[in-house]
Amino acid sequence: MPVEKIHDVIIFGTGLAGLRAAVELNIKMKGKVDIALVSKVQVMRSHSVCAEGGTGAVLREEEGDSLELHAWDTVKGSDFLADQDVVDRFVSLSPQEIRLLEHWGLPWSRREDGRIMQRPFGGHTFPRACMAADKTGFFEMQALYDQLQRYATITRYDEGFATSIIVENGKFKGLTLYDLPTGEFVLLRGKALLIATGGLGTLYGFTTYSQTVTGDGQAIAFRAGLSIEDPEFLQFHPTGLIPSGILMTEGCRGEGGYLKNNKGERFMEKYAPKMMELAPRDIVSRSEMTEILEGRGFKGPDGLDYVHLDLTHLGADRINKRLPLIREVCMKFLGLDPIKEPIPIRPVAHYSMGGVEADINGKTNAENIWAAGEVACHSLHGANRLGCNSTAECLVYGGITGGEIAKYLLKNPSIPDSPKKSFEEEERKIFDHLINKEGSENPYQIKKELRKTMDETAGVYREGNLLQKGLTRVRELKEQFKKIKIEDKSKIYNSNLINALETENLLDLAEILLMAAIERKESRGGHARTDFPKRDDDNFLKHTLVKLNNGKPEISYKPVKIIHWKPVERKY
Ligand SMILES: Cc1cc2nc3c(=O)[nH]c(=O)nc-3n(C[C@H](O)[C@H](O)[C@H](O)COP(=O)(O)OP(=O)(O)OC[C@H]3O[C@@H](n4cnc5c(N)ncnc54)[C@H](O)[C@@H]3O)c2cc1C
Repeated sequence: MPVEKIHDVIIFGTGLAGLRAAVELNIKMKGKVDIALVSKVQVMRSHSVCAEGGTGAVLREEEGDSLELHAWDTVKGSDFLADQDVVDRFVSLSPQEIRLLEHWGLPWSRREDGRIMQRPFGGHTFPRACMAADKTGFFEMQALYDQLQRYATITRYDEGFATSIIVENGKFKGLTLYDLPTGEFVLLRGKALLIATGGLGTLYGFTTYSQTVTGDGQAIAFRAGLSIEDPEFLQFHPTGLIPSGILMTEGCRGEGGYLKNNKGERFMEKYAPKMMELAPRDIVSRSEMTEILEGRGFKGPDGLDYVHLDLTHLGADRINKRLPLIREVCMKFLGLDPIKEPIPIRPVAHYSMGGVEADINGKTNAENIWAAGEVACHSLHGANRLGCNSTAECLVYGGITGGEIAKYLLKNPSIPDSPKKSFEEEERKIFDHLINKEGSENPYQIKKELRKTMDETAGVYREGNLLQKGLTRVRELKEQFKKIKIEDKSKIYNSNLINALETENLLDLAEILLMAAIERKESRGGHARTDFPKRDDDNFLKHTLVKLNNGKPEISYKPVKIIHWKPVERKY
């Protein structure tokens, strides 16, 4: 029998955004709030612990930085698709997030004068990435986790895999959860829901993301009727290690690393003569691909041709102090010491600029559902996110949504009624129907094929026919998925079942991404179409929205909020 549990607030996802929101809720409610923390992995295994290079914030106006400059860099980096009111709010709040973490004991790297060290990052005109060596996310998660230990009102649902969000009459009624350790099906009810489930990186085969990052929250929010904004904008990070895709942080270039082709040339001179290796990621990734496609790369395994990230001139001391993780990963995975040899890298699927549509307060179009972190689209990053702005966004929007939910609780003290839809139905759908399917298709094979399709058809450079081919293939895979067989029939820790549910989520998100990419007949930020190579502000200076209509995804658009800066040509 399914179990029903009631809390004030359900925080769905415990990365930086979810934990920061939980702390803020406790601060605002003076510890008098009953919070459920839901995570499909142990809290500290959320992908946020992998964040490496730093968190963007203006800390040194006396040395020449300013909020206006951070805002301008973000807007220009976004290829003018960011909503400028959101950008203003974000840059003004991120410094206080850094100070909060400082008060909560985060061991930042320090300058000689004892102040927090900030390194240069791509697309930022001032060194703005606050850093704890190259393990920033890990220490940020640690600091937030420590803070949460002060509050007794948290119930953790670690290794609880959410399968659906129940929304009725525009209101959140429940989150259904498959509890892996017990095999129980649980309905979590609450006054408010925060979706903070991170990105969808494993939609691609060559990715920087942990295998657990499968876009679940975005997919189930979409199925619950929420809108997905700007899904076509997927960021390729310029430096994924060959052949695993492990991230070589932008901090490598922030510390002075070079990118070189097979002639030993620093090719960024041709593409971004001013900012060179520290141009925004979309531009650097395209430059690398152009070098590779024009024969100036190196031959790599399985078609993963590459260029070099060269740190050898930085010296052992700087690498050991500022990039210890990078060195360790290169040595362990490739037997290569970056102090002595260049690192083989190429563009790698990294970050989803799009996500669940949420307003400047992080509220979605359901009355009591908010979204924060990578899963959300507050229109901060537009068509291309700047490095170090994501962890900052998680902190800022974790704080904002925590505060907003606290305000909502004070005005709405009672729990909404039980959902009309029976959640036994959801349990039966999964435990009886899905597990007992006796089809011929292997869900692991479908996932592998999906990721290959995305690598091949929706990469750094895109083209209409190829995107269409990708979409047709994804739809075929969706049909195949209806005929899967799940080998393991047990209920406890059924990882076969989880894989199938994740694959289903990825299939839905792939379809949305490709549909939106086909319709955006221009090149902007991370979406570069060879058949429409120019930005087209007359027709496409607008956000994409995708929503279910009669069970089918439907596309519409909404305007971009332009306050200070009209679009101009992006030069670096
Ligand atoms: C290798 C790497 C390095 C990075 N470095 C930087 C950097 O230096 N600076 C920067 O700004 N950004 C960086 N980023 C990006 C940034 O780290 C992420 O965008 C950010 O941490 C996402 O945090 P989040 O809180 O949104 O989600 P996450 O930290 O991804 O957490 C998602 C949570 O949702 C839960 N969840 C998901 N699905 C389900 C489900 N079905 N049921 C239950 N729970 C679920 C997960 O268990 C997890 O707790 C990096 C990313 C990677 C991959």
